[in-house]
Amino acid sequence: MRAIQDIQDLKNKRVLLRVDFDVPVSARDEVQEKFRILKQKPMIDYLVEKGAKVVMVGHISDPDVDSFGEIILQLHLLLGKEVNFIRTIEEIPNYLENYAGPALLENIRKFPGEKKNDKEFALKLSKDFDIYINNDFAVCHRKHASVSAIAELLPSFAGSLVQEEVTNLQKAIDAPKDGKVIIIGGAKAETKIPIVKNLINDAELILLGGVVANDVLRERGQDVGSSVVDENYKELLAGLNVNDSKLIVPEDFVVFDNKILDIGDKTIKRYTDAIGRASMIVWNGPMGLFENPAFAMGTNELAKVVAASRAYKVIGGGDTISAVDKLGLLGKFDFVSTGGGAMLAFLAGQRLPGLEALGYYK
Ligand code: ADP
Ligand code: MG
Repeated sequence: MRAIQDIQDLKNKRVLLRVDFDVPVSARDEVQEKFRILKQKPMIDYLVEKGAKVVMVGHISDPDVDSFGEIILQLHLLLGKEVNFIRTIEEIPNYLENYAGPALLENIRKFPGEKKNDKEFALKLSKDFDIYINNDFAVCHRKHASVSAIAELLPSFAGSLVQEEVTNLQKAIDAPKDGKVIIIGGAKAETKIPIVKNLINDAELILLGGVVANDVLRERGQDVGSSVVDENYKELLAGLNVNDSKLIVPEDFVVFDNKILDIGDKTIKRYTDAIGRASMIVWNGPMGLFENPAFAMGTNELAKVVAASRAYKVIGGGDTISAVDKLGLLGKFDFVSTGGGAMLAFLAGQRLPGLEALGYYK
C-alpha cells in the first residue's frame, strides 16, 4: 500500500485529504463519538506541519445533519485549529490560491456523483490537487468517487489512520490460532456471520451473543421463543457448521416477554473463563439489548473482563464502542477501530475498494 510518509516534500503541495467526520449528532447539536474526529488529528497536524495546503473531504450519513456547516465549530474545538468551510467545488481553486489553513468541503454525499463513483465528478474534484490521501478507513468498503475513482486520477496514498487500522486488523487476523478468541454479538447478522465463517478455522473460540447467537441457536433446532432472529438466517449460515465445537453459543439467558434479551450468568462465567485464557481478543457486537439497563449485564460484564485481560485487545462497532465507553473502559483496549462496516468487511476477508485504490492488494 502506498503510504503518505513515503512522500518527502509536501511543502505547498495541494492535498485532497479524505477524512472521517461522520459522527452522530445529538438532539442538542453536540457531536458524539469524538474519538473518531480526534483520530483524524495526527494526519492533519502532520500535513500542516509539512507545509501542505490541505482541503478535506468527507461525508455525513446522518439524514438529520446534512451540512458540515452545522458542526464546523465543534470540529475546530476538537482539532485545536480553525477549519474553514468550502461550500462548493467551484470555490476550491480560489481557496487554494489564497490559502488560509486547512479547509473542509461540504458533505460530499450532497453531490450526486459521489455515490455513483462517477468519473466526471471525480475528475472535477481532483483537478486542483497534486495528491490524494485517504485517511477514512470507515468508508473503504464503499466504491464512491472520493474513495475509489479519485485515486485513479491523482497520485494516491494511505493516510496514517488507514495504515493503523489495516495493520491492527491484519495483526488480529494473523495472530496464532491458539489463544485467539473472537467475540461476535449485536444485530445485523448479515455483516457478522461472514466474519465467523472467515475466522473460525483460524481461531481457538468464537463466542456468540445477540441476534447472531439467536440465529445459530435456531439453526441448531433450539426453541428461541419470540426472540429476534434474522428472517434469512438459513441462507446467512449456509456453509458454516453450526455444531463446530469452536462456536460457543449462550447456554442461559435473560428472557423478557418470551424474548432472549441478554446472556445469562452461566454464559457470562463460561465466556469469562475463555477470555481469561486468550492472548488475542477481537470483539464486535453487544451481548444483548444493552441500551436497556435490565439487559446490559452480559455486555457490561464482558467489557470489564476483556478490559482486564492481558490479551491484545481489538474492539470495533459503533454500539460496542459506545457500550464500553459508557463504562469508561475504552482506554484499556489496544486498538479501537473507527471502521464499523469497513472493519466487519475486512475481518470477513472481503476486498475493500478503498484499499484496492491505494494498492493494498497485490
Ligand atoms: P455494532 O454497532 O457494535 O456493530 P450492532 O449494530 O450489530 O453492533 O448491534 C447492536 C444492536 O444489537 C443494539 O442495538 C442491541 O440492542 C441489539 N441487540 C443485541 N442483542 C439483542 C437481542 N438479543 N435482541 C434484540 N436486539 C439485540
Ligand atoms: Mg451498530
